[in-house]
Amino acid sequence: MSKARLLRVHGVVQGVGFRPFVYRLAHSHGLRGWVLNAGEGVQIHVEGEAPAVDRFVQDLQAHPPPASRIADLEIAAVEPQGFAGFEIRDSEAGGAAPTVRISPDLPVCASCLEELFSFTDRRRGYPFINCTDCGPRYSIILSLPYDRPRTTMRDWPLCSRCAAEYEDPADRRFHAQPVACPDCGPHFHLGEATDEAAIRDAARRLGAGEVLAVKGIGGYHLACDARNPAAVAALRERKFRKEKPFALMARDLETARSLIELSAEAESLLTSSARPVVLAPARVVLEGVAPENGDLGVMLPYSPLHHLLFAYGAPAALVMTSANRSSEPIAYEDDEAIERLAGLADAFLIGERPIARRVDDSVCTVTSLGPAVLRRARGYAPGAVAKLPSARPILALGGDLKNTITLVVNGEAFVSQHLGDLGNYDVFRAFQETVRDLTAMYEVEWSELLIVHDQHPQYVSSLYAQTLTAAETVAVQHHRAHVASVLAEHGALDRRVLGVAFDGTGYGDDGAIWGSEFFAGSVQEGFARVAHLRPAVLPGGDAAARHPVQAAAGFLAGIADLPDLTAAPFNFPRRYLQARELIEKNLRIFPTTSAGRLFDTAAALLGFTREISFEGQAAIWLEHRARTARPDVDGYPMPFDGEELDFRPLLAALIEDRRAGRPGPEIARAFHHGLAAGIAGAVLELASRENLDIVVLSGGVFQNRLLLDRLVALLRRESLTVWTNREVPANDGGLSLGQAALSSPPGTAGVPPGI
Ligand code: ZN
Ligand code: ZN
Ligand code: FE
Repeated sequence: MSKARLLRVHGVVQGVGFRPFVYRLAHSHGLRGWVLNAGEGVQIHVEGEAPAVDRFVQDLQAHPPPASRIADLEIAAVEPQGFAGFEIRDSEAGGAAPTVRISPDLPVCASCLEELFSFTDRRRGYPFINCTDCGPRYSIILSLPYDRPRTTMRDWPLCSRCAAEYEDPADRRFHAQPVACPDCGPHFHLGEATDEAAIRDAARRLGAGEVLAVKGIGGYHLACDARNPAAVAALRERKFRKEKPFALMARDLETARSLIELSAEAESLLTSSARPVVLAPARVVLEGVAPENGDLGVMLPYSPLHHLLFAYGAPAALVMTSANRSSEPIAYEDDEAIERLAGLADAFLIGERPIARRVDDSVCTVTSLGPAVLRRARGYAPGAVAKLPSARPILALGGDLKNTITLVVNGEAFVSQHLGDLGNYDVFRAFQETVRDLTAMYEVEWSELLIVHDQHPQYVSSLYAQTLTAAETVAVQHHRAHVASVLAEHGALDRRVLGVAFDGTGYGDDGAIWGSEFFAGSVQEGFARVAHLRPAVLPGGDAAARHPVQAAAGFLAGIADLPDLTAAPFNFPRRYLQARELIEKNLRIFPTTSAGRLFDTAAALLGFTREISFEGQAAIWLEHRARTARPDVDGYPMPFDGEELDFRPLLAALIEDRRAGRPGPEIARAFHHGLAAGIAGAVLELASRENLDIVVLSGGVFQNRLLLDRLVALLRRESLTVWTNREVPANDGGLSLGQAALSSPPGTAGVPPGI
């Protein structure tokens, strides 16, 4: 009995070895027909013995090529055509259409690694080895369709042996666009040395304590021996990065396990094809790597070069931090890198293959709600994260901090790589490039485009939106976008939920600085703000976000019997008194419900009285102090009156304990427990009042695992369902997705009511 099937496969199915895979699979089952790249993905016609056709379909679903991601598979019964064999046909007219998803960059695969270290392979030791299952993608694509002349490999014509592999449907390198070998492809250099000699020299220098600039997939890294405090200190000094933790690259899984506590979930993140930096509790103390922080961020080697460096003797744990001075974007162009990194690196290990766009390492962690992405970039971008029903294209510009953009085309939301803080001019340039890039790749018609930006009128991204010529431009409130990002990920745009958004700063409906908000509603109908933190004042505006004692002056202004905080044990500096003066004179003070500033206040009261050197530092410091305390500490009181969550009793109790000499870590923990219980109490009351049983948590504050885990436990005890972000960060890196979601429901003018 002979039968035939026509299959349409959608998802990440082009540029990932799908057609040769299908070709080999069809041959192994003795089937006939064809496979081709079509506008919407890959089409397959198979015919032959009925059981063989069924097995083919099963195998395709169960074991697709490792780098592919099948979003959906349509199968139709068709008439057998009597084909003589199975062939790979030319792409349909127009080639890969813009709806085809662009593959993220992929780590070197097992087959290529085997060749890399084989004594006889012609690519032995070649740092640019790759195949259809692995290698760079997004970071080398100049335009679509994805073909070698439109990648940064266009300057290296294939030698005859590479060309033969590229053209052989049975070969692992059939149509592998970046394919190359030592004879025809790019090389790595360190000074005069090339490839093996260069990489050996780099490994030796790292062992000797030097700081190296190493060209990677999406930009340059600065690398040094993580176990050499002098090297780490030199890197900090040169990079002007005083305290922010450095990421590590471990030689192998064994080494990673010795550095951090890895749950099974964390381990599968670490070895996943995105190869992100995984943040987990440290098992060792590495001087200078992550000061005052109980976590370490570790990733595994992902490019052939990394594997070679370790094989040639580089230290087993390397600091691998993006090569920039603080807050500049990652360096990715060679001339620029050499110029900018001149004083930072002792030597440069430079690969010749150009990088089309900067893509940082991604950062992930695991919480009681599962894996969470903290920074979405290499290995994820520019993947689709959600389906959003919109007939027209949408470009959501995100916020000014931790910026990402989201493009919605044909109902799918593509989220860009993490770009950074738009206040930095180079980041702003990268942001503009990414807007141009993604809209061009997906052939977006600007005359149809809906542009979405944050409601903050002074955000760089908001001002930029006004310069664009699109069909329509709308603003979305910051914290509603946070909540909506979770619902977009969960594909639940019509679900009514209780949304809880806690973060540092966002522009509120009333122009105040919001940051601890409770909403009821859905993405489709809009979100009503039903409760919030009791407003405090913030003296001096933006500077208050950098000086915890300045935020403290505002949050403590309404507390009775306040002791002299410039005396022991608090020892607040003069800035505190100046801030108090502003409040007394009613000068330059702003109302705020910022949870971030509440954390800053608690941190200041426990001794963090200096200026912060990176965003969120004081809160992270407080969390890590709390984690060192015994877990059975009672929380401080934080009453809720149906509309406002009152922080004053919590801070008063904290001050009391501090004066009484209670250990700092215990106080920090009592603060966390009190806040978790306070939020949980408010949620319970609001959920029952609004008749809701799903709670959505988003905003940067929920990256605090101690707070999140405690809160989730409290809410689950009451049988509430808790959702948070998984695919995009809960911090402002997820804003653009939420903005797009709030603008996408059909049947509205673009924006639902209540925004
Ligand atoms: Zn490979
Ligand atoms: Zn070659
Ligand atoms: Fe935010």
